[in-house]
Amino acid sequence: MKREPLEIYIHIPFCVKKCNYCDFLSYGIEDKSLENTACQSNRQNPVPQSYVDVLCREIRWYGSMDGIKHRPVRSVFFGGGTPSLLSEDQMLQLMSELRTDFLIARGAEISMEANPGTLTPAKLERMHALGINRLSIGLQSTSEDELKILGRIHSYGAFLQSFKWARAAGFDNINVDIITAVPGQTVDSYRKTLDQVLALSPEHISAYSLIIEPGTPFEEMDAKGELELPDEDEERKMYEITGTFLKKNGYERYEISNYSKPEQECRHNIGYWERMDYLGLGLGAASLIGKKRFTNPKNMTVYMKGSFAQESWYSDEELLDEKAAIEEFMFLGLRMIQGVSEKAFYKEFGRKIMAVYGSIIQDNCNKGLLKRKNGRIFLTSKGLDLANTVMADFL
Ligand code: SF4
Repeated sequence: MKREPLEIYIHIPFCVKKCNYCDFLSYGIEDKSLENTACQSNRQNPVPQSYVDVLCREIRWYGSMDGIKHRPVRSVFFGGGTPSLLSEDQMLQLMSELRTDFLIARGAEISMEANPGTLTPAKLERMHALGINRLSIGLQSTSEDELKILGRIHSYGAFLQSFKWARAAGFDNINVDIITAVPGQTVDSYRKTLDQVLALSPEHISAYSLIIEPGTPFEEMDAKGELELPDEDEERKMYEITGTFLKKNGYERYEISNYSKPEQECRHNIGYWERMDYLGLGLGAASLIGKKRFTNPKNMTVYMKGSFAQESWYSDEELLDEKAAIEEFMFLGLRMIQGVSEKAFYKEFGRKIMAVYGSIIQDNCNKGLLKRKNGRIFLTSKGLDLANTVMADFL
């Protein structure tokens, strides 16, 4: 029997300090709210060993589970937080546990998110030797002023050094994250960021637009009128030059915010947008296995108990009905520039996509927002600009 491949996501929810815009599930070192959780982080041990030990137990637990064990793992993604805060020994422990309990496929993509200021040449060499073959470095901007406003821990110089060390350690698949619409950012300063990143020729660039998230310092600053955000025209210009500059330099846009050199797309993320089965391990990590979507506890005290066997363990658990699964298929699939495959839709749901969404698809095609060609349905460039509106039609 052919075993369906699986993707694994591992969450490391610790950072040196929280950035001003961040609403991810992560804690700064010495965060007081971690006291009494058996998981207090500190400068010497930014990722508590107790957390890594529970993670390893969780890897072992799923690795022995029917329906999951023996499935080839085609990608592993260490995300966060700042996974590059793991010590070399902790990385070794996690990679060994994964290889013991799962069948990591030959040529699997193994990514780790990293932040400048947490990497050394020795750590990068060790990471590479352990089989981590893709690095995703959080830069955000090359302007020192913008990095400061964002609350990043590093300078542009520290990023440059990390990037060079990574290349020297053998990483030939590197993503660089950048952000547009940063307070104080101008079209010129953004263009400079793009130029400086392109000069390094990374294999992949993710360009996100800043969103002021509830509960972040930026929300508070924005409410007090302290953030000088680029206006709509400037934001629009930044969005446009991202596309044109990157295309001119040999990067293909393959998802709303992601660009890569040929065949250097992030396979893990494509799997996620194509709704492949994935297993999320660690605090608050989400999984999709078959029709079941479930999320680990988001509370550290609960997670650290590691009661994986109890049904009540999950903070969220849902058996997706067909309607929800179809909506997800469309919502995630349309994020990709190649859109959704009519054949894949039929294979998954036993119905033709036009029988389910015919009038919505036709209507959006008439408005020039969607295109139907060669068995695929995808957003046009006008549709990409209005992606949220088009996707809302499918929900
Ligand atoms: S490094 Fe990333 S995860 Fe950590 S606080 Fe900053 S944005 Fe959030």
